[in-house]
Amino acid sequence: MKITKVEPIILKVPASMGMDETIMSDDVVVRVETDEGLSGIGETAGPPFSVMPLIRSVHQGTWYKGFEDILVGEDPLDVERLWEKMYRYSLHYGSRGLIVWAMSAIDIALWDILGKAQKQPVFKLLGGGGKPIPAYASLPSYATSEELIAACEEVVKKYNFTAIKFHTDPARLHDDTWVRFTKAVREHFGSGLTLMLDAHNEFGTEEAIKFAKALEPYGVYFFEAALLPDNIEGYAKLSESTEMLVAAGEEFTTRFMYRDLIERGNIDVVQLDVTLGGGITDGIKVARLAKERGRLLVPHSWNTDISFAANLHFASAAGSPFVEWPISKSPLRNALTRERIPLDPNGSVTPTTSPGLGVTLDESIVETYRFKGPLGHY
Ligand SMILES: [Mg+2]
Repeated sequence: MKITKVEPIILKVPASMGMDETIMSDDVVVRVETDEGLSGIGETAGPPFSVMPLIRSVHQGTWYKGFEDILVGEDPLDVERLWEKMYRYSLHYGSRGLIVWAMSAIDIALWDILGKAQKQPVFKLLGGGGKPIPAYASLPSYATSEELIAACEEVVKKYNFTAIKFHTDPARLHDDTWVRFTKAVREHFGSGLTLMLDAHNEFGTEEAIKFAKALEPYGVYFFEAALLPDNIEGYAKLSESTEMLVAAGEEFTTRFMYRDLIERGNIDVVQLDVTLGGGITDGIKVARLAKERGRLLVPHSWNTDISFAANLHFASAAGSPFVEWPISKSPLRNALTRERIPLDPNGSVTPTTSPGLGVTLDESIVETYRFKGPLGHY
């Protein structure tokens, strides 16, 4: 089997639909096609117009080639070799960050093809059991504790979530606002609800330690993204200073960065998202390292059911205690794929047993939102 096309598809959600930069809106999906009719899809959180030229070259004939140019003609089933090929080809200007996001989307599409070729769901190829995994509701920020409690109540009633994460508004992390909010939610729901809190990399080390101490009485399961990703020493200090689990990693890319975060940063919960961190091929290596070092792996996940499916298969193999369920208003969140990934009645999610990722593009939705110009040749 040979790859014939690696197509970045940009989906634009009109501003008129009430989307803004604080919630997932525009998207980039990558479709890999083959000469045997099998195709696979992947996705990354973008930014779409920056990811696109990394995949599809706009400088034909120069030394730089997009990933499509180096992958066409290759056997898509050689996932490990092709990951290395992309990494080595781009490492002078890449090896971290955005280039790895583009690689991640392609890598996921290759795993989708591999699963279809072997008629197995991706979690099986990875050795996962496919058992239900509790999902946690990932809620946006709210202005008041009353609104936050109402939002929590709504998702708990509607979907039976047993775990919820708040995204804080960083501007109000330097006073006691989010400590009060957390206290209010804990008092309202009692001990039955698992709570997590995301600090959006807002703190310096000492401030994070202080904040963590203030949160501790309210039984927060994990404290996410407290520090800047480059503050690895700070993570080590924070982990030592708090009894809460310290979670980090959605901004990290490749096993090399995660190794540092796990071994030097000494964090407890690794939040690798396979659509960002290095795809399934590299993600599984990080999952093994996390297991060896006794850490948890709870994948970050945003975007549509393509990303969610990829992270769910991965979580199954990684033995994750939770998966992140994005509460998003985007019209693409559950509609971009023909197959929806439902929540079980008890707030858990079970990976689909269909071959590959188990989700396929809804072409009518793709046509509705596909970006067609002025860069129409994409
Ligand atoms: Mg986060």
